[in-house]
Amino acid sequence: MNNAIYSFRSPDNEPVLDYLKGSPERKGIEEELKRQTKLEVEIPLIIGGKEVRTGNTGKVTMPHNHGHVLGTYHKAGTKEVEMAIKAAVDAQKEWSVTPWTVRASVLLKAAELIATKYRHTMNAATMLGQSKTIFQSEIDAVCEAIDFLRYNAHFAGKIYDAQPKSAMNQLNRMEYRALEGFVFAVSPFNFTSIASNLNMAPVMMGNTTIWKPATTALLSNYYLMKIFMEAGLPAGVINYMPGQGSVIGNTVVASKHFAGLHFTGSNGTFNHLWQDVSKNLTNYISYPRLVGETGGKDFIFVHPTADTEEVAANAIRGAFEFQGQKCSAVSRMYIPKSLWPRIKDLMVDMANDIKMGDAADFSAFMNAVISETAFNDITAYIDEAKKSSDAEIIAGGSYDKSKGYFIKPTIIQALNPKFKTMQEEIFGPVLTVFVYDDKDLDEAIELCDTTSPYGLTGAVFARDRAAAEMICNRLRYAAGNFYINDKPTGAVVGMQPFGGSRASGTNDKAGGEFNLIRWVSPRTIKETFVPATEYKYPYQKEFE
Ligand code: NAD
Repeated sequence: MNNAIYSFRSPDNEPVLDYLKGSPERKGIEEELKRQTKLEVEIPLIIGGKEVRTGNTGKVTMPHNHGHVLGTYHKAGTKEVEMAIKAAVDAQKEWSVTPWTVRASVLLKAAELIATKYRHTMNAATMLGQSKTIFQSEIDAVCEAIDFLRYNAHFAGKIYDAQPKSAMNQLNRMEYRALEGFVFAVSPFNFTSIASNLNMAPVMMGNTTIWKPATTALLSNYYLMKIFMEAGLPAGVINYMPGQGSVIGNTVVASKHFAGLHFTGSNGTFNHLWQDVSKNLTNYISYPRLVGETGGKDFIFVHPTADTEEVAANAIRGAFEFQGQKCSAVSRMYIPKSLWPRIKDLMVDMANDIKMGDAADFSAFMNAVISETAFNDITAYIDEAKKSSDAEIIAGGSYDKSKGYFIKPTIIQALNPKFKTMQEEIFGPVLTVFVYDDKDLDEAIELCDTTSPYGLTGAVFARDRAAAEMICNRLRYAAGNFYINDKPTGAVVGMQPFGGSRASGTNDKAGGEFNLIRWVSPRTIKETFVPATEYKYPYQKEFE
């Protein structure tokens, strides 16, 4: 028996490899890209550790070459969802009482497998299936996925370590129980690491999950599920359920065992699920935990003292890397008139210089947007800007979906600060700029704070440190992740805990204790050593 009181030290972040020409990692990923390009993978459901094929199938294709099929997946129906609920509820009984260090070891082994044996597998599947460059994939599917796993083991230990005081004649303890039931993990297409964490954060704390992966990220997510199993995850702890969101969501949320939702995706889906939960509220064993990270309308606010080169380079990276499909992507900017001519020249030159192409082409800075639906939604915004007298397109504006869903990095100058593309999340390579008069700085800060309903990420660029602090304070609720002289993307686990409030979600900060604490239901246990034997108190003796 192991009686150690263990704590996992704060881990180092996984180093991002360079993939320079001639390096072993470059050779390895090029070979794996070729291998996966030739494969057509069959993706089953995985329920209670067993593969299930329903015969109701769909295709997985490359966004940058939509005629190329990477796989066929099986869709869950109501029957399979019911099976998954039973498997998750059954598995919870044992997993929730498995020593937490053993649970942590499964996460740590999964991290090691991704770092070594499956690094190229995860990168190639994410590059081909979600259309990412090697750099964008490496920081997501490998490094961030590993960091989430390692940090969760560390943070779990800190939670378990927090115990109440005991007075004389008593022992008080806090038991951090897993939730009673299962957690519904619903993941977005844009980060393979998020899909991993939405499951593994609750799993670390002893919960079991039903995992609804995004249909446009099934290849990488399927490999991830297989890695979890190879790492020793017992049957039924995570149940992998591709299929239609509404079919799966309706059945899951109607179950009395539904104990929590761990969601990342759009506001529409989160709001819909929350409303469904409200309708079913009296059916549940406990009040479910609802954790959701949703949309953003992320900004860069430029102060008149900012460095123009720094602003331009960070705006371009922040807006257009991964085709602007990061929840944190810069999509609106406020720029003073005095700096605009220089920043405009720099940004337009950089945007026009960007090369778009196949994910396997290492010279490309951008690839395709995820799907035809996304392509149509994003280009509708561009078309509206073309027609409007309130906006002018100053870079990009063209698109082509004949082979892949390619949209040129587009910069719109809004003449009206409330123009639609200054307010709504577009989730594509479209950046809108509003130029303010330097003397109207105050008004511009107010506009930045109030124009969009979101509050996810934002940045200020200023050389005047006092001005940067003033703007940081004025925009206190405009962003849950705020940056000074940096782009508002690229949060690193353990360094910049991530999440926003307002319409951007419940702000439970993925990858930290704030998040993990949502997946436990603590029980306080008091033991009295010498219990009372009389019902009266001592001062009442005189009345006897
Ligand atoms: P989405 O809402 O379309 O899909 C998210 C998931 O919900 C998918 O798995 C989808 O199949 C599922 N789904 C849809 N309808 C459902 C239903 N009725 N029941 C159950 N599941 C259902 O989002 P997306 O397009 O995959 O991701 C993009 C969105 O995610 C953007 O709005 C982006 O800002 C947001 N996002 C936010 C963060 C953050 O941390 N705040 C991070 C990444 C992405």
